[in-house]
Amino acid sequence: MSEQAEKLTRNFSSELDAILGETFPVLDDGFIRVVDYMGTDESVVQAARVSYGKGTKKRHEDRGLIRYLIRHHHTTPFEMCEIKLHVRVPMDTWRQWIRHRTANVNEYSTRYSVAVNAMYSTRPDEWRIQATTNRQGSDGFAQKEQGEKLSQQEKELHDLSRKIYDERLEQGVAREQARKDLPLCTYTEAYWKIDLHNLMNFLRLRMEGHAQYEIRQYAAIIGEEIVSRWAPLTWEAFKDYVFNSATFSEMDGRVISALAAGEKDRAKALVEKFGWLKYKDGKPAFQIERFELEEKLKKLNIEIPW
Ligand SMILES: Cc1cc2nc3c(=O)[nH]c(=O)nc-3n(C[C@H](O)[C@H](O)[C@H](O)COP(=O)(O)OP(=O)(O)OC[C@H]3O[C@@H](n4cnc5c(N)ncnc54)[C@H](O)[C@@H]3O)c2cc1C
Repeated sequence: MSEQAEKLTRNFSSELDAILGETFPVLDDGFIRVVDYMGTDESVVQAARVSYGKGTKKRHEDRGLIRYLIRHHHTTPFEMCEIKLHVRVPMDTWRQWIRHRTANVNEYSTRYSVAVNAMYSTRPDEWRIQATTNRQGSDGFAQKEQGEKLSQQEKELHDLSRKIYDERLEQGVAREQARKDLPLCTYTEAYWKIDLHNLMNFLRLRMEGHAQYEIRQYAAIIGEEIVSRWAPLTWEAFKDYVFNSATFSEMDGRVISALAAGEKDRAKALVEKFGWLKYKDGKPAFQIERFELEEKLKKLNIEIPW
């Protein structure tokens, strides 16, 4: 080794090491566990400072740098950290999860092996009712009696589909074909590896209230139990500047500026001009951009004047 060569040690997180391989249960039979990882907050800082050859400085300086990087979308230093998870997820949730193309994935093969004998079941008080204002979402829960019937039907369906699947296998049908009628609630397992930058994108989209309940449960565990231990400074900055922040469009800004000046009529006129305020049966009709603006105004404790 040359005299100039810097002796390096591996960055590690003792908090994450302490839970390596530990299973975090999710839903009724799912889980997440950390299999391996590379890098920590210090690796982000090292990468950001590589251009002038200085490593990690004092902790408060590292914190400031990480917060600056996140605020200014300087994302590549976060790609220096990677994490590998072992997840067990119902297939319909997995279908949403796998859309995050920047991960590396290896999934359990139901061509090669018998399908996992577990299906995500819904308790009677967990049946969500279709929202009328948001086509993608739900609003409230089914009544008790209805929920009990739905859960009973669900059990019959699960039992029947598994029974037919097992019978097909017994009769020698190929696993790749026998599986075709298994429901989407069947659990699958995968190894999922992603860098910290793209993981934050996943968490921003999947921890958020508009994401489906099931994937939100997984995302919350990854964020609150795993990233918080792995890269606490990054996690803190992500929450402050990304997850709990708000963005304002040009139109939002004009309405908020009118409201800040106490000009409620002007704010209302602007909202009408943007086509966000139309009436149905004498009441403001649902309009997605106005609704989103109202959510931001509520967060800011600003009274809505229409
Ligand atoms: C609430 C919600 C509802 C959704 N509804 C639907 C739906 O109805 N139908 C549907 O099909 N999907 C839907 N999606 C999936 C969504 O459109 C994205 O595919 C998914 O969230 C993955 O996000 P991503 O592309 O940012 O992630 P990744 O695939 O991990 O990509 C990360 C980033 O890398 C870049 N990138 C990756 N691949 C490419 C590429 N090929 N070209 C250019 N840039 C690339 C982009 O900047 C991207 O943001 C929904 C997602 C959410 C959160």
